[in-house]
Amino acid sequence: MRAIESAEGLAVAVIDALTSHICVLDKGGTIIAVNRAWREFGESANNEKPSDIGLNYLEVCRRAIGNGASEALAFYEGIRSVLYGEVAYFQLEYPCHSPTEERWYLARVSPLYLEEHQRDAANLTPSGAVVSHADITEQKALETKLAHMAATDWLTGLLNRRAFVDMTEAALVDLCQNGRNAALLMFDVDHFKLINDTHGHQAGDQALRAIAKTCRSVLRANDLVARIGGEEFACFIPDTDMVNATMMAERLRLKIAALAIPPMAFKITVSVGIANVPTSGVTLDQILTSADRAMYLAKSDGRNCVRIDKLVQRGERATA
Ligand code: GH3
Ligand code: MG
Ligand code: MG
Repeated sequence: MRAIESAEGLAVAVIDALTSHICVLDKGGTIIAVNRAWREFGESANNEKPSDIGLNYLEVCRRAIGNGASEALAFYEGIRSVLYGEVAYFQLEYPCHSPTEERWYLARVSPLYLEEHQRDAANLTPSGAVVSHADITEQKALETKLAHMAATDWLTGLLNRRAFVDMTEAALVDLCQNGRNAALLMFDVDHFKLINDTHGHQAGDQALRAIAKTCRSVLRANDLVARIGGEEFACFIPDTDMVNATMMAERLRLKIAALAIPPMAFKITVSVGIANVPTSGVTLDQILTSADRAMYLAKSDGRNCVRIDKLVQRGERATA
């Protein structure tokens, strides 16, 4: 009750009650007050954040820029702009990882107005600024998990169609800028309806998971692999020519044909289509259509084989 009776005591009690690490800066960026969470963090961690009253925050940021801290420049600019009255608010997410733990913080800088009229006067700079650092590690972990879920096929753990398209589009831009080769494989399980009808839907799911695992074992770490439809898969293989892509596709086809899917150890095969990815002049839609055409050629040629779409050889499509 004593704190509530005095305005100053109340203000101190309120900022001490907040879990964010808070400091108050004067016009020149010198720390004139800190809250309990700030002090405790300063005592417990050996970090770059100034914990003592009297330190100049802008100076600390400048030193951190010199030491190569990647967010220090943005943070310096943010604090400076708020203190000069150039922006009404600044915020920045930044990592603060230790060798044993990954932590994320959200820093916010708001202007400090000691007189109410300062808020409305366009040409008056604030009397200082309030800097707060909030621990957002849990929120970051949740964001990462949601982003992963949104990009992942629930059954196989491969990329889903949307993530595959987004990531391949980005990879195409990179390839185009650097004049590198790539190939796109598309394959579909043969007579999968019959497999489901004969062995049951769960056994069918098991087969799809086994195919995904085989893809991962055949392809390289930076190749993109997705389940883009029910029993249809796509692989984007950067930095490869058609000879290498065909060898990879054959290896994949043979490994899948050699699988014995439990519990009845039944067999599956796939039909594979390959599209060449020219370094420029084609869209991902055209490449997918080309791989799809090659895949249906493999189906009509008797299944369990690899075919290339001849129309997509380098240069031909670009001038079509
Ligand atoms: P084709 O050789 O011409 O590709 O014949 P198909 O029987 O594989 O082709 P069709 O398109 O007639 O059948 C595809 C089947 O894939 C039908 C559908 O029930 C099944 N399927 C799609 N998604 C899943 C899935 O997630 N799990 C299982 N078990 N089956 C699926
Ligand atoms: Mg099929
Ligand atoms: Mg299909």
